[in-house]
Amino acid sequence: MTHSFATGITARARWARDRNDGHPEPAWSTGERLIVALVLGGQATLDSEGYSRQQALQRLSGDLAFHGYPADAETWITGIRAALCPGTAMTADPYTRCPDCGFTAPPESMDYAPAPGSGIDWDRPVRVTCPCCHASYPISAADVLTPDAGMTCHRCGTSAPHPGGAARVRCPGCGLFLLGPALTPAQRNELRITEGTTGLAARAAVQAAKDRRAARRGGTGTGR
Ligand SMILES: [Zn+2]
Ligand SMILES: [Zn+2]
Repeated sequence: MTHSFATGITARARWARDRNDGHPEPAWSTGERLIVALVLGGQATLDSEGYSRQQALQRLSGDLAFHGYPADAETWITGIRAALCPGTAMTADPYTRCPDCGFTAPPESMDYAPAPGSGIDWDRPVRVTCPCCHASYPISAADVLTPDAGMTCHRCGTSAPHPGGAARVRCPGCGLFLLGPALTPAQRNELRITEGTTGLAARAAVQAAKDRRAARRGGTGTGR
């Protein structure tokens, strides 16, 4: 079994993502270009190579069998994607519902012990911060919601699995926090307020507005 295949693909995918707008380098082999396109969700690359996603997956399955990987192609790709996200070493983002603001989102940051092999050691304390309101709270494996919905990142085209109704969705390709597609206009508005007023600049602006109102009330003296 050789793991240099996965390491090589991870390095190429990272390079394509960070340095080449998500596009594989034309000098790579067809197989490498196709796999990087699968990892980054680059449908345009697959199209230009004349492969459907299914055909590319089939070809990858053959490569994986040749290199002695036991995982199926989809699972293997998920592993490579996880390896590309430094903050979430070898694990998918655990989506939870924030007890403070009530929005469902992946962690903005996470404190956890890595399990032997990969993933999160749930026997040890796991603490996350909410990307919406920045509250910090402990989570357990039971709090993690299943990613049963999908959307496509508008920046890099990667498909981003997430629990339906999530307020924020982190793109596994480029790390961008995307707006959850299933939010109602009212929820979007509430999210804007939650995210806006917790920012330092916004808080200062709100405070300044309050001060101005107070000053106005003070200035009118005996008025209403
Ligand atoms: Zn929150
Ligand atoms: Zn993206």
